[in-house]
Amino acid sequence: MRRLFAFLLALMLALPAALAEDARVEDCYISAGETPELRYYLPETGTASLTLTDQDGGRLRDILSPRNLLRGRHILKLDADYFDGLADGAYRLRLSWSGGEAEGTLYIGAAPDETPAPEEAFEQPVITPAYRSERSCGHTGCYWCTPMDIADEAAVWAMLTAPMTVVDAGQKEQVLLYAEPDAKSEAIAVVTGASQGVHVLEERGDGWTLVETYSSSFHDSKVKKWNAFVTGYIQSSKLKKVQVNQEYGIVIDKLTQRLYLFHDGKLMTELLCSTGLYNERQPYNETRSGEFMIISRVGDFKSDNLVCGIGLRFNGGDLLHEVPHTVNADGSKNYKNCEPKLGSRASHGCIRVQRLRNADGVNMRWIWDNIKTGTKLVVWEDYQGRQITPPAGDTPVYYNPKGGSNYHRAETCKGVKDQYLPLIAFIYSELDSGDYAALTPCPYCCPPRRKAEIAEINAVHRQTSPGEIMSITGK
Ligand SMILES: [Zn+2]
Ligand SMILES: [Zn+2]
Repeated sequence: MRRLFAFLLALMLALPAALAEDARVEDCYISAGETPELRYYLPETGTASLTLTDQDGGRLRDILSPRNLLRGRHILKLDADYFDGLADGAYRLRLSWSGGEAEGTLYIGAAPDETPAPEEAFEQPVITPAYRSERSCGHTGCYWCTPMDIADEAAVWAMLTAPMTVVDAGQKEQVLLYAEPDAKSEAIAVVTGASQGVHVLEERGDGWTLVETYSSSFHDSKVKKWNAFVTGYIQSSKLKKVQVNQEYGIVIDKLTQRLYLFHDGKLMTELLCSTGLYNERQPYNETRSGEFMIISRVGDFKSDNLVCGIGLRFNGGDLLHEVPHTVNADGSKNYKNCEPKLGSRASHGCIRVQRLRNADGVNMRWIWDNIKTGTKLVVWEDYQGRQITPPAGDTPVYYNPKGGSNYHRAETCKGVKDQYLPLIAFIYSELDSGDYAALTPCPYCCPPRRKAEIAEINAVHRQTSPGEIMSITGK
């Protein structure tokens, strides 16, 4: 039954706008028996209308037929049965005025906290490191075939402790992968010796093996395939299987920009990191994804004016090291430039790790002191389709009600003075409300991102693979 215009326009408010705002229609959730409120902001006085459409833009209801409306915020109350006859699901609310259009989403059928937000409704494919492979091998325990899901501790641990196949060459040497089982065919990728793993697809009788890997092209590599996932041939005699450390393992995820440290089968702790940020001129800045092992202890080194502390080599010129610092005139270390970038891409290819100790007492110094060479380190590519799952609404987070501008993951965060510990708990779903909305994430204890930030990252990854560099050839 159609009830066009039968609804009651119970209340229509035009609040004076104190500040200039952009046109918008807020998302609205409706469940049975409720009086929905539609909120929108009109940027200029004039003729405007509000229409309900299906996902394809087909008109279903004229909520406001064209009429003269004042510039400002509006709240429109509708009676509950106005949406009778519409199936549960998501619809579009379109505000039109002479100067443009704005849209929001109307959800019918479930309470707001049960209604999947658009980014959560997005269907997530199962993505593995060999997601681009034309061969689905489905090995268990294999890095290349294990879904990139940090919550599956058993699968991640099996992957971190499984033997890997590497190239029998020096740790700073690179060997070529060929398009055909023939050294005269085109070289299509480079693999770093000793520490970079390859996915063995087919061992042939003719002395060649077909493998997959991400090309470890650096600025001076023979083949310029920046972090490209490739399938190619290598002489079987150049490959060897190696065992890895069975106590610890490390996952670096480009999607979350976090380091996950596993110990004895469990996710032990999480740290902020920064992987490479490439640009047109330096495509080789993108950190190469793949399966690696920590191969040698390099220590401190300089990169331009930056000092990178306690570096562990895992892929030729790519090291895991402390977030860089400069040195002040008085000799003290200054982290102000690089530390705030942790949690986002920032480096020239190395992986920067936080130096502040988290609540488990772990930082890059701890890794330097405790992690042995031979420990597996894998880098997960943030392919299109991967999404961050927001924490459950009742996940506890913490703050200091006596002051302090941060919210925390840990009740006893090492970034807070003892006199303020333990911190006071609230829940993740309250984070955007009241005084909590002004809190910033603690740089010590690696608390979850805010919902809006997760939504922003997920929106990018629904459209693109930020680490895939298709057409840049470099300088
Ligand atoms: Zn496999
Ligand atoms: Zn903290």
